[in-house]
Amino acid sequence: MSRTGGAGAATGRRRPEVRADLALMEGYHSAQVDVAVRLNTNESPFPPPAGFGAEVAALLAETAWHRYPDRSAAALRQGIAELHGVSAAQVFAANGSNEVLQTLLLAYAGAGRTVATFEPTYALHAHIARLTGATVRSGERAEDFTLPPEEVGRVLDDEGPAVVFLCSPNNPTGTVEPMELVAPTLGRCAAEGRLLVVDEAYAQFSPWSALDLVDEELPLVVVRTYSKTWSMAAARLGYCVAPTWVVDELHKVALPYHLDVVKQAAGLAALGHADEMGRRVAAIVEERGRVLDGLLELGVRTWPSGANFVLFRPEVPEGAEGHGVWQGLVERSVLVRDCSSWPRLEGCLRVTIGTATENDAFLGALAEVLEDRGARRREERR
Ligand SMILES: *Cc1c(COP(=O)(O)O)cnc(C)c1O
Repeated sequence: MSRTGGAGAATGRRRPEVRADLALMEGYHSAQVDVAVRLNTNESPFPPPAGFGAEVAALLAETAWHRYPDRSAAALRQGIAELHGVSAAQVFAANGSNEVLQTLLLAYAGAGRTVATFEPTYALHAHIARLTGATVRSGERAEDFTLPPEEVGRVLDDEGPAVVFLCSPNNPTGTVEPMELVAPTLGRCAAEGRLLVVDEAYAQFSPWSALDLVDEELPLVVVRTYSKTWSMAAARLGYCVAPTWVVDELHKVALPYHLDVVKQAAGLAALGHADEMGRRVAAIVEERGRVLDGLLELGVRTWPSGANFVLFRPEVPEGAEGHGVWQGLVERSVLVRDCSSWPRLEGCLRVTIGTATENDAFLGALAEVLEDRGARRREERR
C-alpha cells in the first residue's frame, strides 16, 4: 500500500513507485543559509583573478551557439593534460567531479557489484554508488581518523569490491593518506582486478598527490575538481586522470555533449592563471596554520589537515557540544558545516579556511560562543 493510496484510489490514479532500493535513501544536502561569513562548503574565498571573466566572455563571443560543443572537449583536456604532464587521452572531464564519480561508478560499479569506502569520508562516494545500484561496504578509520593498512586489507579480503575509494586529503577529516598506504593498496588492486579511485578534490593543499602513480598498466583513477582551488564552484567542472582504457569506458557512459561550451571555455581560461592559483593555495595553507593555532588556544580539539578546511570538536565542561556551538556561530552570522550528528563525528564541526578577515570573524565568534556556553554551564552548576 502506498502513502497516497486512498486519494489515488478515489481519483483512479496510481503513482509510479520509485526503485525499491532508492525508496529509503535521502538526498545530499548542505545548508544554504544567508550569513556574512560562509565557511561551510570548502569553496575558495577568492573570486577568480581579474581578467578571467573578460577572457571567458571573449571566448564566448566567438562561439557558434547554434552548434553542439566539441563533444570530446579536446582543447580543455589537452590543457589539463599539459598541466599534469599526461596525455589528453588520459583525461576525462565532466560536470563537477561528482559527475566524474558517477560516470566511474556507472562504468565499474552498478547492480551486483560492491564499492568500498573508509568512514568517515565524503558521503557522496557511498551515495552515488548506491544510486548506481551497487552495494557499499565500509571500513573504519582509527580514532585519530588515519586509515590503518590492515583495515584496508580486511575490507578487500572480506568484501571483494570492484571499486575502492580513497579520499586524500579526506573530507571531512582533513587526513592525508600517505604514499605508504596508497601505493600498496594500488598494488593489491592491480593484482586482483579492482579499480582504485583516489578523490583529490583538495590535493593542492596537501604535501603529495597520487597523480605521479597514474600509469597505463595500473587501475588507478585520480579525481580533481575546479570547485575548490580554481575558484570555480559555480562552473561545475571536474576531471580525472586515469589510464586511457578507463577514460575510453567513461566516454561510453557519459551522455553526448555533456560538457557545455561555456564550461569548456572557462576551464581552459582558468589554466592560464595557474601561477595566481598557486599563490592563493599558499596563502590559504598559511591561514590554515593560523586557524589551527587559534582553535588550540580556545582549547578546541582539532585534527591535522592537508586541505582547505579543519575539523574540530568544541568541548565545553561537559563534553562535546557541536550543534549548540554551530547555532551560536550562525547567530553571529558565521556558517560552518555541522557534522555533529554524522556517524563517527559526534560533536564535530568543519570550518573552511576563508580570507584572513573571515577567519578572524570565525575565531572571534567561536571564542564568544564558547565563553557564553561555558558561563551558562558554570551558572547551572551553582
Ligand atoms: C568538494 C568535493 C568534491 C567536489 O565536487 P564537485 O562536484 O567537483 O564540486 C569532490 N570530492 C570531495 C571529497 C569534495 O570534498
